[in-house]
Amino acid sequence: MSIHHNNPEHRPPGESTDPSEELLLLKKFVPAGKGPWGEVSDSQWNDWVWQLKNRLSQMSDLKEWLPHLAEDESLGVQMSGKKLAMAITPYFFNVMDVDDEGCPIRRQVIPRSGEMKVQPWEMSDPCGEDSHSPVPGLVHRYPDRVLFLVTDRCAAYCRYCTRSRLVSNASGYDFHPNVDQQLEYIRRHPEIRDVLLSGGDPLLLSDAKLDRILTELRSIPHIEFVRIGSRIPIFLPQRITPALCEMLRKHHPLFISIHTNHPKELTTEVRDGLARLADAGIPLGNQSVLLRGVNDNVITMKALIHKLLMCRVKPYYLYQCDLIQGSSHLRVSVRRGLEIMEQLRGHTTGYAIPQYVIDAPGGGGKIPINPEYILSHDDQKIVIRNFEGRVFEYPEPVETKVRYSLPVGHQCAEGCVTPEACCQETQ
Ligand code: SF4
Repeated sequence: MSIHHNNPEHRPPGESTDPSEELLLLKKFVPAGKGPWGEVSDSQWNDWVWQLKNRLSQMSDLKEWLPHLAEDESLGVQMSGKKLAMAITPYFFNVMDVDDEGCPIRRQVIPRSGEMKVQPWEMSDPCGEDSHSPVPGLVHRYPDRVLFLVTDRCAAYCRYCTRSRLVSNASGYDFHPNVDQQLEYIRRHPEIRDVLLSGGDPLLLSDAKLDRILTELRSIPHIEFVRIGSRIPIFLPQRITPALCEMLRKHHPLFISIHTNHPKELTTEVRDGLARLADAGIPLGNQSVLLRGVNDNVITMKALIHKLLMCRVKPYYLYQCDLIQGSSHLRVSVRRGLEIMEQLRGHTTGYAIPQYVIDAPGGGGKIPINPEYILSHDDQKIVIRNFEGRVFEYPEPVETKVRYSLPVGHQCAEGCVTPEACCQETQ
């Protein structure tokens, strides 16, 4: 078998001198194909279980298919077993450029030695999930919603994963969610209206197991809607079978948040899988993480969000990378993140713009981070600037006193009681 493409359409950003040409190239849907697995039958290749069984998880697997492993990567792979395992589906391997060690896909899934450099401010649980876990596998941090972790396994492992402490179990976390206890907790808490299934990747569960969890959740009267967070459509689009989509569509309203960071990840195989989910009536959103050497430039980000819309996926969040241990080689400054957002807002479809957020270190929740569009604001007016830097004023409404027709005995904010006194309230 021969080592596959160095597809010109997969050239890294910056290689073309014409930004519009580069944008068009990145926006093309390209099949990942079978690459060096050309001798594998179509039925095996399209079987998600075969893909999982044949993941690249050892140095020897990588060396077989990726002869030019950089020293940095080689060191990272040797050490990954102690921190976060390496696993790459054959399908996703084919999205990489084997000849480019700076390939943005490689940077996301092949460990590097930088993972072993831990900064004092980095944490194993940067979002403070473990301290908000009333039963194993359930995180109840916000009043009306919970995170329901169903597994510690993923189809491939992202080197910047916020849950590196538990996914893959390489560091011995020993994650044992108890589905019955998780469901029972939700039943006993009527304030919970929204459940996010996550992990690990919930779409790695069998259809039957996932169906059972969704059916149980749907039987709880106070659960209004359910979300699934999954990177499976990107790492393993073969898993998005018609049978899975048929099962999922029984549980509406059901949303899926996918996770993709670079336009190359949106191959024709991924586009087709996402179409199956969208055709099942599932609203799709995307969460990206801002990563150095992956998507920290405007052209790449613009191509990504345009392609997502073409796949019927709303770009939802752009995350500043969490302060996970050993992630400094992948983190980008907030200043750079703001520059990218500044060059998107107003310059392209508003629907394509994700909200840039920082998940506050230690568990403060997501905080939106925006370029400064408000120049000043007082009781009379707000002074704002647009994407071109032009300045505008918007007058605040004049607050008028209005007389409401209120029931006798009503006490207004000033303390007077109708109908004797003023009883005027502002509109
Ligand atoms: S798929 Fe999600 S949970 Fe799994 S390693 Fe990647 S970021 Fe972490």
